[in-house]
Amino acid sequence: MKARFVGQGASRYVVGDVTPFDQKNEMFCRPFWDEAQLDLGKKFYMTEVPPKNKPGYELKGQALVNASWHLENIFAQGVAGGRMGMYAWEWEQIYEYPLVPPGLKIETDNPAELTRGIKKVASFFGASLVGVCKLDRRWVYSAAYPLRDQKSTPNEVPDTCQYAIVVAIEMDYKAIGCSPTNPSSGATGLGYSKMAFTAGLLAHYIRGLGYQAVACGNDTACSIPLAIDAGLGELARSGLLITPAFGPRVRLAKVLTDLPLVADRPIEFGVWDFCLKCEKCALKCPSQSIRYGEPTNKPNNISNREGLLRWPINAETCLAFWATNGTDCSNCIRSCPFNKPPGWLHDAVRWGVRTLPRLNPFFVWMDDVCGYGKQRNPDRFWSS
Ligand code: SF4
Ligand code: SF4
Repeated sequence: MKARFVGQGASRYVVGDVTPFDQKNEMFCRPFWDEAQLDLGKKFYMTEVPPKNKPGYELKGQALVNASWHLENIFAQGVAGGRMGMYAWEWEQIYEYPLVPPGLKIETDNPAELTRGIKKVASFFGASLVGVCKLDRRWVYSAAYPLRDQKSTPNEVPDTCQYAIVVAIEMDYKAIGCSPTNPSSGATGLGYSKMAFTAGLLAHYIRGLGYQAVACGNDTACSIPLAIDAGLGELARSGLLITPAFGPRVRLAKVLTDLPLVADRPIEFGVWDFCLKCEKCALKCPSQSIRYGEPTNKPNNISNREGLLRWPINAETCLAFWATNGTDCSNCIRSCPFNKPPGWLHDAVRWGVRTLPRLNPFFVWMDDVCGYGKQRNPDRFWSS
């Protein structure tokens, strides 16, 4: 689907001073230091979850989830602060073939060609979408909080890293449809492992060209504004990025670099106006963590930044539901009308959303009538 180019990326949501964001305020970190979240931390991080004799919660599903997360958890830890394994900032030369002489640097007198090459390699390594933007330092965390150390550390992204390459990894449509049960958690975990694989290899490729590369998952900088700046999509009521091809059914990683590239242009394809009329994610959120009605610049708690007009998510109640559910949740992805595989009918509706916003209430109604967004029986993940 074609989108319109617009002049502003994530800046279009800025309505005041954007407060610097310390990663310790991110919801996965707060259970380690925030008194009010310590009990939630014990429940979420330290309590064993016995399998249940219930579709979507059996041992085979739990094993699937843990296997899907394995590469991220053991060799990257982007959710826990990154800066190791696939997300290491420095690279130790252990074994390389061919053994290229050190100190070589690729010619960079044609940034457009270089950018095409970087995108080709990102896709080759597994990116479903890739975009490039100038690195807006407002979206870089003011401090890092690696869960390994459980203390704030300076987040010293080199000044020379002027660009971000943002990659989006598509998650499995049918598995996400089973949310909030184990098949959808498996799709999420696999998305995180693929993020680390793709961004880590891409960073290593750039280092091989003689340039700096900082690969990151959720760590180091907010992924969504960078993805918006890089022309991958728009911000939605669910707090997620909506892409034209996959809707919100993607995970995001990025590589910060000093390689001289050509930035993509931000896009718009009717998401904001559609979200004003559609509240499906809010209705289907089991913890009622998604805001109804108009957007606001008022944060729910310290996990939201100030200075942005959007629909801020209540990450406290969201994580509390995950802890009670025994596995994470993607209902806000599953229920979104933009979450559909490509196809002529879905593409025609997306065209309508972009060009005929007056029909948005009708499109939302049709989505409901057609039964989209309902939970898929988790048993069908195994049988189909
Ligand atoms: S992940 Fe689930 S609980 Fe959290 S905001 Fe989305 S729908 Fe709500
Ligand atoms: S479900 Fe509706 S309101 Fe929520 S993000 Fe998707 S389009 Fe926007």
